[in-house]
Amino acid sequence: MSNMKTLQAKAGNVLIGGGSPIVIQTMCNTHTKDVEATLEQCRRMYEAGSGLIRITCPAPADVPYMKEIHDRLRAEGIDTPIVADIHFSAETAIAVAPFVEKVRINPGNFHKDHEVACQRFAELVKVCRQHGTAIRIGLNHGSLGERITNLYGNTPQAMAKAAMEWLELCIGEDFFNVVVSLKSSNTIVMVEAYRELAREMKERGFVFPVHVGVTEAGNGDSGRIKSCVGISSLLQEGIGDTIRVSLTEDPVNELPVAAYLADRYDGKIFSSMTALSLSGGKAVATYDAPSREKLLLDFSCDFGKRLLDREIDEVEIKGCYRDENGSSVDITSSGLGEYLVDELLQASRRRFYKPEYIACPGCGRTMYDLQGAFEQVKARTAHLKGMVIAVMGCIVNGPGEMADADWGYVGEGGGKVSIYKGKTAVLRHVPDSEAVDRLVELMEKDSI
Ligand code: SF4
Repeated sequence: MSNMKTLQAKAGNVLIGGGSPIVIQTMCNTHTKDVEATLEQCRRMYEAGSGLIRITCPAPADVPYMKEIHDRLRAEGIDTPIVADIHFSAETAIAVAPFVEKVRINPGNFHKDHEVACQRFAELVKVCRQHGTAIRIGLNHGSLGERITNLYGNTPQAMAKAAMEWLELCIGEDFFNVVVSLKSSNTIVMVEAYRELAREMKERGFVFPVHVGVTEAGNGDSGRIKSCVGISSLLQEGIGDTIRVSLTEDPVNELPVAAYLADRYDGKIFSSMTALSLSGGKAVATYDAPSREKLLLDFSCDFGKRLLDREIDEVEIKGCYRDENGSSVDITSSGLGEYLVDELLQASRRRFYKPEYIACPGCGRTMYDLQGAFEQVKARTAHLKGMVIAVMGCIVNGPGEMADADWGYVGEGGGKVSIYKGKTAVLRHVPDSEAVDRLVELMEKDSI
């Protein structure tokens, strides 16, 4: 439960903010037109406790599929609110709003002309008010748009300012069924953006509920640690009413991590740390953890914020955890301690011991084997320490969302990949069987 008094949004039967428990959510990575596959994934998400389920709705032609998915879930007794994920099209948002409980939009992308974007947003607000549909205003660091970056730069402050402009419009329309998010894959940028937004909303006297997440966090231990660092830093300050842990994996895997974070900051579970000493900027922590997973999450939440905020510079971890057979494993002699410290320092951007990977979780727009490609890219680039490498699921949003990556591997669809150096596509239409080789060649040539 957020300890910052917020307004309350309502998506179907789920309350967000205003003192409600933290709501966990995830997003389908199936093609929305593939109704059976999407339904199957929604059922698994429901079983795993997702409080909201997001599904991409790229165009008006997808609206009937969204409606069918929604109606069939309800007929099966699954009442989890459905969130339609919209990227650019106000027309799509307006068309789908009557059939779902929430729409996620970045109104800045509705039109290049800000005045036109405002008009379209006002039309959407009207439809949402009529149908009791909530809105998430979701801005990402990589896709702020020229008008905002010209005014405020490409900064966390700019993200907060951009969000405030849309929230002002909601206040002017007397529409408060709104949640707001400001995501980045960079934990420092993301935490600073949300803090700034919280300050601005407080000052304005309207504190809207906040959806918190680290976008494009990657997968495995690194994705979990990065997500915990960003999300827990904010939850500790009472910022965050609904959360998504975004992983380039089966989306159902996101839910246990999100549930851990929600339970921990709703005061239902506690860290397995048994002793802590702090001296001269160094923390030494001892754990007695029931599992490796719990140890990883506890450690990330116990020290992520302290590292991010430079309260400490170093951390050492000792003690033990239980393996799957219930046997005690020593954290130091198993090598896990050193590895977790490396990962945590990287996630909190204090020391980089390997390349920094940005990978989107994939969604209904993904047109290739994103998870497989990400694994290949990681395996082939592990030696390129210091590089920021993005692996993105689609050409529509991928290039905009990979923010400050040095190199990007972006799926075009039809078995083809584009390779980016910074914001520029240096190779297009590369068959995906050759794309990892081409990327590595270019990176190595460039680093000579
Ligand atoms: S970049 Fe990834 S998550 Fe974002 S819209 Fe494209 S496929 Fe979906």
